[in-house]
Amino acid sequence: MAPSKKGGKTAAAPVVAHDEDDLIQVTPAMKQQAAKFKAAGNNAFSAGRYYAATAEFTKAIECDPYDHIFYSNRSACYANLDQHSKACADARRCIELRPDFAKGYSRLGFALFKAGFLHDAMNAYERGLTVDPKNNNLIEGLGEAKLAQKAKIEAAKLSAQMDNVTLDEHVIGIDLGTTYSCVSVWRNGEAHVLTNAEGDRTTPSWVAFTEQGRLVGDAAKRQAAINPKNTLFNIKRIIGRQYSECAHELELMPFDVKEGEGGKPIVSVDVNGEKKDFAPEQISAMVLQKMKATAEAQLGVPITKAVVTVPAYFNDAQRRQTKDAGAIAGLDVLRIINEPTAAALAYGLDRREGENGEVIKNQCILVFDLGGGTFDVSLLNLQDGVFEVLSTAGDTHLGGEDFDTSLAAFAQKEIEKERGADIFTGDEKALRKLRTACEKAKRELSVANHANIECFIGEIEINMKITREQFEKVCEPTFQRCLDSVKRVLSDAGKKKEEVDEIVLVGGSTRVPRVQGILTEYFDGKTLNKSVHPDEAVAYGAAVQGAILAGVRDKQTSRVLLMDVVPLSLGVECEGRQFAKVVQRNTAIPCKKKSEFTTVYDNQDEIDVRIFEGERSNTDGNHLLGEFQISGIERASAGEPKIDVTFEVNTNGLLTVTAKDRVTGVEANVSLQHDRGRLTAEEIERMCAEAEAMAEEDERLARMREYEGTD
Ligand code: AMP
Repeated sequence: MAPSKKGGKTAAAPVVAHDEDDLIQVTPAMKQQAAKFKAAGNNAFSAGRYYAATAEFTKAIECDPYDHIFYSNRSACYANLDQHSKACADARRCIELRPDFAKGYSRLGFALFKAGFLHDAMNAYERGLTVDPKNNNLIEGLGEAKLAQKAKIEAAKLSAQMDNVTLDEHVIGIDLGTTYSCVSVWRNGEAHVLTNAEGDRTTPSWVAFTEQGRLVGDAAKRQAAINPKNTLFNIKRIIGRQYSECAHELELMPFDVKEGEGGKPIVSVDVNGEKKDFAPEQISAMVLQKMKATAEAQLGVPITKAVVTVPAYFNDAQRRQTKDAGAIAGLDVLRIINEPTAAALAYGLDRREGENGEVIKNQCILVFDLGGGTFDVSLLNLQDGVFEVLSTAGDTHLGGEDFDTSLAAFAQKEIEKERGADIFTGDEKALRKLRTACEKAKRELSVANHANIECFIGEIEINMKITREQFEKVCEPTFQRCLDSVKRVLSDAGKKKEEVDEIVLVGGSTRVPRVQGILTEYFDGKTLNKSVHPDEAVAYGAAVQGAILAGVRDKQTSRVLLMDVVPLSLGVECEGRQFAKVVQRNTAIPCKKKSEFTTVYDNQDEIDVRIFEGERSNTDGNHLLGEFQISGIERASAGEPKIDVTFEVNTNGLLTVTAKDRVTGVEANVSLQHDRGRLTAEEIERMCAEAEAMAEEDERLARMREYEGTD
């Protein structure tokens, strides 16, 4: 895909935390000094004095931060001190510096193993084996991790038997985000967000293909700057869509996306020197697989069932392909729910009682969810523990990344003004660094009145002061767009702003003070509700829904019922491309709606049923979902035959359309043909097999091994 500069306007690029250009000059004297610290570290390590050894290796790193051995050795110290996340971080840094150093992988594998992330440990060993296939430490490490995984599962089974519960009851909730994903599970009466192998509660929705194997999450994001063509992100922006609809998104993607069969976007990457194509749902599946592995590592049991969330504005194809992604990842997606609905569910549980302990009977709640790349607003009614979505609106092209883009464009202009030259021209990497620095400054501006945009562009040090006021000024148009959607949900539901009882903030970007300010102003000074953790509320709600579906019955889950709605009106095309709505937007689901249609010509015995979703009265402005034909209609004068067209939307928001002639009884339905670009059962099976094969790389042979010494 074309990189990120067009017509002089800065376009978005991935946010990466990579500093490979910010090199410190290491002189021979510094190297010599580092070698001395290293020798002292090795002595201390051999004597089992791990704290002392850590201090020596740290000093070596301060002298020379580019020697992979120092990180490898310090990782060993940390592992022995049971400081697992530090051990992992050092091992990762070692691998970054020297991807062909097999020991780096056994360090990482060991650290992950000790931290209890057996699946990730296996993955690290496996990556190491691509570098050195005969490495005994790696082979043995792999075996050890597999044995431990087996033992963990057995122990969990035993304990489950003792507790008289079935292992099946974990239905995890996954917030599959554009920028970050989060997984949560219901245990002991509440939803718990699970930490990944890196110790983080959210995981970047990034996937990378490297010479040493596939990376998912933070590891993928960190190496993006040096591997932009094979590092994939923002896949949620293209899943379930047509290539022709995605022009804007594709412009912002530095990796290759081409048009595949049926007009579907296909991502093309380099895997070990070979070009390999992936459907968006396959890439999303890799993120889901990581979330599944996170849950398995934390819970110690295999996980096969999940509730996955999607933006309220996702259409039928986007929902289906998200579900397919789950299937490819080996997850039975029991329910796809809207993100704001999930957040409201979390909110409802958190606030089920009023300040004086009285049960909240009836509330109108506005959920404002501004994440990294998508924006959803929903108006919900909460009555006696029952949520009803009254209306939804949003913008799939609005989020924190837009703030980064605006701020970076402003900073670029200012810097070029000052430097008198276009120092960023054609330099994709420089722009990316600037964006990363801007995102960091943006976060700081949420708590401080000013921040510095700091980075190195080649030799040039950028250090630009930015005030909150300046930031707010450049982003003001984006803030205003947020309000437009708020006004729309209110008017769609026929509610006045005064009728809103609670405003709930969800998504990392609601931490921006001006976002909160604009809402408070619009709602005449109303206090915003921030009790739901902005990054975790959606996953939390998905876990609650998961618990309900798993049949967990306790005081909290049994009070909650959830109603969802159709996000866009559904209907068929009539004469003159008129759109006849059968299901109105915001109808609660599951639902079944019937409308009567007829012929336009005399003796017409066939009708093409073209199904659309959208709000425009003319189908040209709506989204074609699919079409089918019904033949064998009663031959009669135009307008006489009566054809019932039934739309049925199930609990996942998925649609089936049936047409039936009342006189002849002939019947036809779409049976999913409408879903252009959707995978066939065979394709899903093939992708599952592929995904499994990749996961099976992580399942290995057995035996405990000795831990390696330092170098
Ligand atoms: P989410 O998709 O909800 O994880 O939101 C991610 C977005 O929130 C990214 O664009 C982040 O830059 C943004 N974000 C996270 N924390 C903050 C913060 N403290 N201030 C401003 N934006 C933030």
